[in-house]
Amino acid sequence: MKQKIAIMGGTFDPIHLGHLMIAEMVRSDAGMDRILFIPSGNPPHKQDHEITAPEDRFEMTRLAIADHPYFDVSRIEIDRPGTTYTYDTMRALNSENDGSCDYYFILGADAFDYVPYWKEAEKVIQEVQFLVVARPGYTVAPLANMPQVRYQTVEMPQIDISSTEIRNRVREGRSIRYLVPEPVRAYIEERKIYS
Ligand code: ATP
Ligand code: MG
Repeated sequence: MKQKIAIMGGTFDPIHLGHLMIAEMVRSDAGMDRILFIPSGNPPHKQDHEITAPEDRFEMTRLAIADHPYFDVSRIEIDRPGTTYTYDTMRALNSENDGSCDYYFILGADAFDYVPYWKEAEKVIQEVQFLVVARPGYTVAPLANMPQVRYQTVEMPQIDISSTEIRNRVREGRSIRYLVPEPVRAYIEERKIYS
């Protein structure tokens, strides 16, 4: 049997309980063997705000998943110079794949809508199936301009947490306890990230 690996990509600035919950529900309910968290290097979108150093975003992700036996984190995007594209990541992963695993890609509904605008979107969608999760304010709907995309919706409780809100809260001196894993909260406080 091939291993089913779901990629959970994101800026993770910072990683929060929304990311972790959707990854875990997908693992459990969509029958994935492992979840591979891939913090982005220098994402093409998100040029509106200063992005935290990749090493800090990687470390927060590592801390967040450390106690989960089926969660892993990859440096593949943060070690690649220049802008990060999913197309390049999938090419790199597939070239190392000896046929022992199938890749899936987890996306929130907001990010799914954006797929047609990815670099080489037509090629990426031939290689991966998407596992799409609703998000407060966004429902999962077929992509009108990309009907051939393969995806399945994974139902789960919605959780209204975003990294943007967490950054704002830290900046305003408000608590983020229970919005992020405790080691991530401590890391943010210690290094004065976002404040
Ligand atoms: P930001 O506010 O900085 O955009 P974010 O909370 O949206 O941060 P990202 O790193 O941009 O987090 O998202 C990574 C992936 O996780 C995307 O596919 C996004 O749709 C999904 N995601 C993030 N938060 C949630 C949530 N609360 N519910 C469902 N999906 C989510
Ligand atoms: Mg986002």
